[in-house]
Amino acid sequence: MRSSLSIAFFLSTCALLLPEASATQTKPRICCRKLSAKFQGQGKVAYPDTANYLAQNKYWSESSFLTPTCIFSPSSANDVAEAVRLFSRNSCVFAIRGGSHMPNSGFSSTDNGVLISLTGLNKLNYDASRNVIAIGAGNKWTNVYNFLDPKNVTVLGGRNSDVGVSGFLLGGGISYLSNSYGWACDNVVEYEVVLADGRIVYASNNSNTDLLRSLRGGSSNFGVVTSFTAKVYNVGPNASGRVYFPESSIPQLFGPLYNYIVNQQAANPKYHIIPNFVKIGTAAPRASFTQFYAEAIDLASPPPVMNQWINGTIPLQSQAVVNRQDAGGLAKLFGADAPPANRSQWHVTSIIADAQLFQDIYNIWLETSQPYETIPGWFNSIAMQPIGTKYVEVSQTSGGNALGITAPLVVVSANVYWSNASDDATVRQFLGILFKKIKDAAKAAGKESKYEYLNYGAANQKPIASYGRESLRKLAKAKRKYDPYNVFGTLVEGGFKIPGFQAIHG
Ligand SMILES: Cc1cc2nc3c(=O)[nH]c(=O)nc-3n(C[C@H](O)[C@H](O)[C@H](O)COP(=O)(O)OP(=O)(O)OC[C@H]3O[C@@H](n4cnc5c(N)ncnc54)[C@H](O)[C@@H]3O)c2cc1C
Repeated sequence: MRSSLSIAFFLSTCALLLPEASATQTKPRICCRKLSAKFQGQGKVAYPDTANYLAQNKYWSESSFLTPTCIFSPSSANDVAEAVRLFSRNSCVFAIRGGSHMPNSGFSSTDNGVLISLTGLNKLNYDASRNVIAIGAGNKWTNVYNFLDPKNVTVLGGRNSDVGVSGFLLGGGISYLSNSYGWACDNVVEYEVVLADGRIVYASNNSNTDLLRSLRGGSSNFGVVTSFTAKVYNVGPNASGRVYFPESSIPQLFGPLYNYIVNQQAANPKYHIIPNFVKIGTAAPRASFTQFYAEAIDLASPPPVMNQWINGTIPLQSQAVVNRQDAGGLAKLFGADAPPANRSQWHVTSIIADAQLFQDIYNIWLETSQPYETIPGWFNSIAMQPIGTKYVEVSQTSGGNALGITAPLVVVSANVYWSNASDDATVRQFLGILFKKIKDAAKAAGKESKYEYLNYGAANQKPIASYGRESLRKLAKAKRKYDPYNVFGTLVEGGFKIPGFQAIHG
């Protein structure tokens, strides 16, 4: 049923569904029991120490591992609707897990309630006549690429195929194709969503347009998304790979990087680069620039925009750009290549492009990390990713998103891996200090940008607050309309919240 919402109907329905109205009560055992009764014999509710539970309770990063009271594994939107209705009625805390790649503890798991694990929502329906694919919310990008690659078409998805479809699309989504088609979320044409009262609604440019806009960056604040219908593009063979630069070459990278962002990015939409700097333990740092070109190239004479990094003018350690048959080939390589992390934490900010500031940020990162690099398992990287004009253009023509970006910027994100829980607090302290210094440097250079990319945010950041006043006003309006009792702000304890609708637990 595709319905436009009537607020009056919605409020009266919720009043019926939330007789206790106190979302502060935690009754996970009751909800687990009720779920077990409702889905009896279907194997959809798993309890600790059972094989099913252990198989489901897996996360990209060990630091996000918690022990839900039970794990519910729906196989349809109707199952999700039954469960969410039950949680709302009984004020049960719950968490929603897509691909479990966000390392923030308590975001896609819970110690305090029921985990909805979406893995069973794994449909993939390609409609060649409309150039779209409906993707079940429990898929990882690997499944999507494996399905589409043989057809020589693709979607805007994760650059590491192990990432989950859901969290990625609900936070924005930077894809290898984003310089052509913008944020991945702006290429989603329809969302199927279970609201707090258990109704299943659809958001598109024809229906519930305010919900469509809100889900593009609004994360888990509006409902459980059960399916995404995304645009499909004809991309087949492509050129891709990584180039590594030694420490001595790093100072030579920032001028060309600035030149690429300002003068070449918009003119070369098929090209994508991930400029990243890596420090493993006490070993010397190196730069790793991932390259992608959305068509096969003459490897003896690559397009200049790519060649500038791989022709040796800036001395390099190694490079591995090859032609691949599959659009998802590089992402699948990285997905298979990168095993789940021991412990992991991201942190993020953004800046306006500036060659000297890139160098300064690199220096700050190197210097600030130095005292921490003997932490066991230390892997520390910082990326400077340009969000170009195309992202802004597409967001204006696709029905809008919540991100509030009106001009190009550079997302600066750090990603740290380490081994022991005893170092968790130290690593988080390091990231706090590092980003304070980076923000100060950007401010001093007059290149400050407020935007924080949600998908790289640390739990103590407030990325949605960074979207700006106009976006927040629209998000708050949509929130009052679609989740008037703030079930997804209170019963869903983890996740990034809309200011004014914060969780009251945890
Ligand atoms: C190795 C690695 C590579 C990455 N590569 C990229 C990249 O190329 N581009 C990029 O933009 N980002 C990238 N990211 C970041 C990634 O987009 C985020 O971590 C994203 O949240 C992962 O989605 P998920 O479904 O796996 O996460 P989860 O941890 O399952 O979910 C993240 C958040 O979304 C909520 N959520 C999940 N599913 C739903 C749903 N169906 N309905 C409502 N709420 C939901 C969860 O409750 C949680 O708060 C990468 C991360 C890692 C670790």
